[in-house]
Amino acid sequence: MKKWGFLFLILLCLSLTIIFYEPLNEPKIEIEKEGQQAIVPVEGNRTSESIQSIEITEEQIFEGNLLLVNSDNPVQKESIKSDVINLSTQNELIDGFGLIDSGVDLSEEIARNFSRMVELAEKDGVSNFVITSGFRDFAEQSVLYQEMGSDYALPAGYSEHNLGLSLDIGSTQTKMAEAPEGKWIEENAWKYGFVLRYPKDKVEITGIQYEPWHIRYVGLPHSAIMKEKNFVLEEYLAYLKEVKHISATIDGEKYKISYYSLSENRTINIPNDQFVEISGNNMDGVIVTVQDMYSME
Ligand SMILES: [Zn+2]
Repeated sequence: MKKWGFLFLILLCLSLTIIFYEPLNEPKIEIEKEGQQAIVPVEGNRTSESIQSIEITEEQIFEGNLLLVNSDNPVQKESIKSDVINLSTQNELIDGFGLIDSGVDLSEEIARNFSRMVELAEKDGVSNFVITSGFRDFAEQSVLYQEMGSDYALPAGYSEHNLGLSLDIGSTQTKMAEAPEGKWIEENAWKYGFVLRYPKDKVEITGIQYEPWHIRYVGLPHSAIMKEKNFVLEEYLAYLKEVKHISATIDGEKYKISYYSLSENRTINIPNDQFVEISGNNMDGVIVTVQDMYSME
């Protein structure tokens, strides 16, 4: 009888483990449409000093991490990230992954996020990443286009690589479409602000063939929302333009994301201490992201 009791206990433990097991690193995401209301601070303790007015300028449409670059929206000179560095000399930054050669350049901000992401992947036993391409200036892009042709490369100014926000990654083991690195990226890159820019099921929208190796930085909370709603950048920006304001809760932190068309808004009011970022869409307006500090109380 004792034996049966012991067996029962084991079975009970097993079933409880299954019921309560929640995968780690899977932040909970909730997204809500906010209708037409603008971002307003929470009533109560706030004073008018805690609100700042921001003047939006034409140039801001072309600056930031949410710029859409495709055949209709080329890269503007002012859109190129100002913190592009050569990675081969940055030992601390490239710890944990390889570079195809010493010529890989990238925005330092994006390289830091990639480096943190690789650390996370390593904990999952996925550790054979290599960066095969990062930032390319217009001259490099032009050479690539001439050498590879239009099936494999985009003309200068029409590639996200010209921004400094994108990188191509490979696995040292096999093709990305088959490698654990490719699968891991598809499922987890959003946690560090990256998105798979040209997924298999979005070829008609992006106009670009499936590229399991090409990731693009958009930053959090945007990458989380895009993952949750299965949006590529074209769809996400069109969605924001349509609904104007959304709020998203990611791991208990609340964000409000708003689209402002430059033709309608030159001055916008945002809460002073909640500012996260302002980014253009490379078309007609800006996206303002604020973090709702009051939601964390
Ligand atoms: Zn690429």
